[in-house]
Amino acid sequence: MADATESQSRALLGRLRDTLAEEGAGQARLDRITHLIADSMETEVCSIYLFRDEDTLELCATEGLKPEAVHKTRLRIGEGLVGRVAKTKRPVNTEDAPSERGFRYMPETGEEIYSSFLGLPIQRLGETLGVLVVQSKDKRSFSEDEIYALEVVAMVLAEMAELGAFVGEGAALAAPHQRPELIRGGVGQEGTAEGHVWLHEPRVVVTNMVADDPVAELKRLQEATDRLRISVDEMLARVDPTDKDQRDVLEAYRMFANSRGWMKRIEEDIARGLSAEAAVEKEQSVARSRMQTVPDAYLRERLHDLDDLSNRLLRILSGQGRDTGAEMPADPILVARNIGPGELLEYGRKLRGIVLEEGSVGSHAAIVARALAIPLIIHAERITTEALNGDLIMVDGDQGIVHLRPGENVVTAFRDKMAMMAKAQERYVSLRDKPAQGKCGTVIALHMNAGLMADLPSLESSGAEGVGLFRTELQFLIRNKMPRRGELVEIYARVMDAAKGKRVAFRTLDIGSDKVLPYMKPTDEPNPALGWRAIRVGLDKPGVMRMQLQALIRAAKGRPLTVMFPFIAQFDEYREARAHLDRELQREASLGHALPESVSVGAMLETPSLAFAPRKFFEETDFISIGGNDLKQFFFAADRENERVRRRYDTLNVSFLTFIESIVGRCAETQTHLSFCGEDAGRPIEALCFAAMGLRTLSMRPASIGPVKNLIRRVNLIEAKEVIQTARDSGQQSVRPAIMEWLASQPA
Ligand code: PEP
Ligand code: MG
Repeated sequence: MADATESQSRALLGRLRDTLAEEGAGQARLDRITHLIADSMETEVCSIYLFRDEDTLELCATEGLKPEAVHKTRLRIGEGLVGRVAKTKRPVNTEDAPSERGFRYMPETGEEIYSSFLGLPIQRLGETLGVLVVQSKDKRSFSEDEIYALEVVAMVLAEMAELGAFVGEGAALAAPHQRPELIRGGVGQEGTAEGHVWLHEPRVVVTNMVADDPVAELKRLQEATDRLRISVDEMLARVDPTDKDQRDVLEAYRMFANSRGWMKRIEEDIARGLSAEAAVEKEQSVARSRMQTVPDAYLRERLHDLDDLSNRLLRILSGQGRDTGAEMPADPILVARNIGPGELLEYGRKLRGIVLEEGSVGSHAAIVARALAIPLIIHAERITTEALNGDLIMVDGDQGIVHLRPGENVVTAFRDKMAMMAKAQERYVSLRDKPAQGKCGTVIALHMNAGLMADLPSLESSGAEGVGLFRTELQFLIRNKMPRRGELVEIYARVMDAAKGKRVAFRTLDIGSDKVLPYMKPTDEPNPALGWRAIRVGLDKPGVMRMQLQALIRAAKGRPLTVMFPFIAQFDEYREARAHLDRELQREASLGHALPESVSVGAMLETPSLAFAPRKFFEETDFISIGGNDLKQFFFAADRENERVRRRYDTLNVSFLTFIESIVGRCAETQTHLSFCGEDAGRPIEALCFAAMGLRTLSMRPASIGPVKNLIRRVNLIEAKEVIQTARDSGQQSVRPAIMEWLASQPA
C-alpha cells in the first residue's frame, strides 16, 4: 500500500516539476498545480492560501471552489481551519469539517458542500508561507500516507521562488524573503550602517527538488551521511577531552548523524520523489519550526545542533561549500548565527556592520567589533533564516534594531538619521586637537581603550591623549594557542611605536569569568565572575604573567613603561604583583637587557573593597584606574552579562556617584592619579557626571572621544556638580532626570 502511494506521489511530483518548468504566467501555473494535486489526491478541491501580510492569508488558487473567491477570500491567522493550520503549523485532518471546532463558513467559496478537509502548512526553513488544502464531498479521513505525500508536495511548492508574487493586487507585502522585516536585538556596538547582506555561512541553494530515481538518491544520501559521520568522528577526536561544551555539541551531532528516526524520515521523503537535498531540507524545516516553539533552552540548543548538522549534510550533498559563488557586496553587512574573533578579524574593516543571531556583549566577536568600530547587533532572532545575500539592510546599533529589506519610509528616515550623525561626526573631527575643557576652565584628559592592532590607527584619528587601558588578553583570545614571549615583545613594541611617546597603560592578562582562553583548561566554577580570574590567576600561577612582564620590559627598551594589574581586591595582591614586576626588572637587568626609562605601576579598582584599602595602598600605587564595568556589577550585585539585570541600576544612581566621589577623595588625599576606564566613561552624560564628581582622566573607546569632548566643552562642571548635589539632597534615586533637564537649558 505504502509503495503504491509512494509511486503515486512520485508521479505527482514529476508532473509538478514539469509544470514548474513551463513558461507562462504565474497564476495560470498555480491554477494548474491545484488541478494536478486535486486530480492526483482524488479530491474535488485543492486550494492554496498564501500569507498576504503577517497575519492575513489569501486564497490564491483553487481547483473546485468558486473561482470568483480567488484573491477575494481572506482569513486571519487562527481563523477557521485554514487559519488554525497556519497558526499551529500542524495539519488538520477531518472527515466532517463543518462540525469541526472553529470551522468558518465562507459563502463566496461555496465550500459548505465539502465534508472532508486536509490542510497542511507550506513551510520553508521553518517559516510558514501559506496553507495547502484538499477537500472532498465524501466523508473520508486522509491516511498517514496521504498526509505525508501532501507534505512533500507542500515542500516543493514552498521552494517556488515566485510564490509570493501570486498574492493578489494591492497586497501589502510581497513574498517571504522579499517583504520588509524589523528585527529587534541587543546592542553589541553602537553606530548605524546601511549596506547589503553578506551571509557568513550562506545557505545551500537546492535547485533540484524532485528526482526521478529514488534508488540513486538514496545511494547519494547514504554516501553523504557516511562522510558526515566520519567528519563528526574526526572532529570529536580532535577536540580537547576536557572541553565539555564542544564535546557536548559534537556528541549531539553524532547522535543525530546516527539517528535512525531522522534518517528514516529523509529516506521516506526520497521515496516519495524528493531529491536527497530537498528531503534533508524538508526535515530541517520541520526541526526549525519546532525550534521556535520549544520552551526548553537545552532542547532548543539540540535542535540548533540538528540544524547545523543538516547544513553540513546539505553542503556535502550539493558540493556547495562556503563559497557559493556569490560576490561580496561593496558595502557588506555580515549576518551570522555567531562568529569567532579570528574569522571576524579576517573580514576586518571591510564590513559596514554585523548582525548576529546569538553572541553576547562580552563575547570575543563583540570585543573585535568594538575595536574595529563596526556597529554590531546581537540576539537578532531569525536573522539567518530571514536574510538573503544581497538584501538591503540597515543596522541601528544604538537601538539594537535591524531593518531588513526596509520600505521607502524607513530608508528615508534612517538615512536622515545617518546624515545627522555624519554631521555630528564632522563636528567631532573639528574638535580633535582641542582640549576637553569645560566652561569653568577644568580640563579633562581623554584617553582611549585598546587591545588589538586594529585599534592603533584610532590613536591618531580620535585625538586621544594616550591609551588608558590596553587589554592585553585580547591578543591571547584571538589566537588558538598561547602566544610566545617573542611574539608579545613584537606586539607591545609595535603598540608603543604607534603611540609615539603617548602613555599606554598595559593591563596584565585579565582572563577568567567571561574571557576564556580557548587553549587553557577551563575551570568549572559556580560563579565565574566572582571566581578565579584576572590577578588571582596571575598570582596563583604566575608563569604567564611573568612572561608577559618580561615581554613588556623588553618592548619598552629604554622607553617609559606603564603597567596595571586587573581586579585587585586587597593591598597584598597589589604588593605581590608589583614584587613580580620588580623581580623581572632585576632579572632583565642581570641579563644585560635595557630597562625601561621609567616604570609606572597601577591597580585597577574593580571591587568595592579596594576603595577602603589602607592609606598605604594609595601611597604606594602610582595610579589607580576604576574598571567601572566590574565595579558597577559588584556594587549593585548585578551581572554585567545578564540581560535581565544589567540595565537595572543606573550608573547615575546617587549611591554609585557618591561612591565614585569617595574614591576621588581618597586618591586626592595621597595625590594618587585616578582615571576611569569602564564603558560608562564613553557615554557623554555619564562622563560629564564623573567629571563633575572630580575625575580628571577618562578612558573610553575611540569613537566616544568626540561626543564626550563635545559635551564637556559645552558645560560648566561646577554647575553640573551643583545640579547633582541638589538632586542628591532632595532624595532622588538617580541624578539623570535633573542633569538632563539642566542640559536642555544649556546653550547648544
Ligand atoms: C572594567 O571592568 O570596567 C574594565 C575596564 O575591564 P573589563 O571590561 O575588561 O573587565
Ligand atoms: Mg574589568
